[in-house]
Amino acid sequence: MLKKELQIFTFEDLLFYFPFKHIDKTQIHTIASISPSMEFVQIRGRIVSMDIVGEKRGRRLVVQLRDATGIIELTWFQGISWVQKMLTVGTDYVVFGRLSFFLGKPQLSHPEIETLKESNETGKNFLEPIYSVTEKLKARGLNGRALGKLMYQLFLVLEEKEIGENIPSAILQHEKLCSRWTAIQQIHFPKNNQQYEAAVQRLKFEELFLSQLRLGMMRSARHRYSRGVLFSKVGSNFNDFFSNYLPFPLTAAQKRVLKEIRKDMGSGAQMNRLLQGDVGSGKTIVALMTMLIALDNGFQSCIMAPTEILANQHYDQFSSLLAPLDIKIALLTGSTKAAERKSILKGILEGEINIIIGTHALIEDVVQFKNLGLAVVDEQHKFGVAQRAKLWKKSNVPPHMLVMTATPIPRTLAMTAYGDLDYSVIDEFPPGRTPVTTVHRLDDARPQVMDFIKSEIVKGRQVYFIFPLIEESEKLQYEDLMRGYQNVKAWFPEPQYWISMVHGRMPSDQKEINMQRFVKGDTQIMVSTTVIEVGVNVPNASVMVIESAEKFGLSQLHQLRGRVGRGSEKSYCILLTGNSIGKDAKERVSIMCKSTDGFKIAEKDLELRGPGDIQGTRQSGALNFKLADIAQDREILERARQIAERLLKSDPDLIKTEHSPLKQYLQSQNSGTVWGKIS
Ligand code: ADP
Ligand code: MG
Repeated sequence: MLKKELQIFTFEDLLFYFPFKHIDKTQIHTIASISPSMEFVQIRGRIVSMDIVGEKRGRRLVVQLRDATGIIELTWFQGISWVQKMLTVGTDYVVFGRLSFFLGKPQLSHPEIETLKESNETGKNFLEPIYSVTEKLKARGLNGRALGKLMYQLFLVLEEKEIGENIPSAILQHEKLCSRWTAIQQIHFPKNNQQYEAAVQRLKFEELFLSQLRLGMMRSARHRYSRGVLFSKVGSNFNDFFSNYLPFPLTAAQKRVLKEIRKDMGSGAQMNRLLQGDVGSGKTIVALMTMLIALDNGFQSCIMAPTEILANQHYDQFSSLLAPLDIKIALLTGSTKAAERKSILKGILEGEINIIIGTHALIEDVVQFKNLGLAVVDEQHKFGVAQRAKLWKKSNVPPHMLVMTATPIPRTLAMTAYGDLDYSVIDEFPPGRTPVTTVHRLDDARPQVMDFIKSEIVKGRQVYFIFPLIEESEKLQYEDLMRGYQNVKAWFPEPQYWISMVHGRMPSDQKEINMQRFVKGDTQIMVSTTVIEVGVNVPNASVMVIESAEKFGLSQLHQLRGRVGRGSEKSYCILLTGNSIGKDAKERVSIMCKSTDGFKIAEKDLELRGPGDIQGTRQSGALNFKLADIAQDREILERARQIAERLLKSDPDLIKTEHSPLKQYLQSQNSGTVWGKIS
């Protein structure tokens, strides 16, 4: 039963099934004192009536409980007959539960309930734990309170040596953390809040510390044991480009990142580096210069982009920047013509082509390199791990990998989700950018918004209209977009205005044509769903209108906004919403209006939505913590990381005696558990 409902298989699982709440049994509320601001209440009273009311799905057991100050209703929708048998009218009980209101009257549904005698038996010298249990378990009488009694029994026979310490004592002392045994006792049965807090602190630290230690060990194993191509020098291509053809001075952040990359590639181990930088922060030039280092060491390199438009843009940019140097560059995408394709494949195989730019086409089996030394993946979050892995296999010795992403990932999240990768950030924009002005407008203000857009188009600018994805139905989404398109068209009629439209259902050649028309400036307006999100660079576009902005997440809004503000002109992002939007949506909109800092926005997103929803994070067990919350517990995480790093530096394989319990613990976690099974 426990197994199926709560995934509790062993005594250890049970011990680590923590209560969500403690009740101070000495605190009893009177019914008259109940107010809507209370979340949980505990009441002592007598059952005065008990009836089954309603039919079928509305069938429920209604119990009236009276104390000296009033009456409150208790209801059960499930396990009705079992509960009915257990309770007797005229007897006194202590009930505890989450307070709700029905038609203005307070009530408790499915409360924990026990007789006065039972209540007095479970001691009052500690706070009583309440565990969350499923409705099914409750219906069988194993409610959140009963599980606490089971736990209490377990602690009566449990001994300290069975809860071995796993954190070195020096760290515990320095961090002022309690022992594992104390923490486990106190998280279930604390005498007071301070004890509970101390237990939580210790266990959160343990979770984060162990996860950082694991990730750190994976990282250091790669550094020490993986073989990579050695790029021992920076040669003439890099130097010539750097001194004579670099179109602008690099920002300090770009220089720093290049240095980090060079160090990796010169180490003899394989580089596996994540490069993060907000949209427009200048990652492409870093990729290009890294590729020149590969060439200087006699190796080929490739860059893979998620869309043809983006691959084309990279190709044009690389070709013009590298024109003065004697370098062979090729573009390989799905629409490369057969004859050209054949000669490119030959050139790649024979090593005539130095730099290859492409889409997914690059990972096909027919693409064989003479000696691939470096693979760059642009907009990493658009590719799966398996697709990236295919690039590794294009060479006997795995090529260095540089994966780039414009989705700002908060540091805490990067540390946990990507902790096994090395990690660089471009946290600075090239000079001379004017930040995008973001405003919030209600649907009522549509005429004024359209007038403003017209005035921008008159100045020669271009405009995006983005419509939300509606998840329930693709068809609905399509219809919504079409309605939006007609609406935009009504404001901006041909032949004065021309409109491009792209959406997910469109065949890719049509998508391409529509995008190209907008890129070339043949159309002034682009109507689209979020397919536009990645990469496209139209510096002349200066207005981004986001329809139903309340339906978008923060990261997505930020990504979309990144499509404008890429030229020298002042740009605007207009967030259109209905008149009344929810509290969270209001906060998202207001953050967007206040901040243009992608990292700040990502941190906020993490706080508002939790890590599961952040774009671009790998589905990773590393984020499944029992207690720790990487948004709330940032400080503990930072500390845990520093301590883990220091420890690994002094003892990378955990061979020191004082680290042996730690090592044993990590090993036991990897190979299942030493505890007996609960059936
Ligand atoms: P992203 O990081 O989004 O890929 P890009 O690499 O496309 O950004 O760079 C955005 C724009 O900034 C490009 O037009 C690029 O030429 C320009 N740029 C990049 N680095 C610098 C710099 N150090 N100084 C001035 N402009 C730069
Ligand atoms: Mg880019």
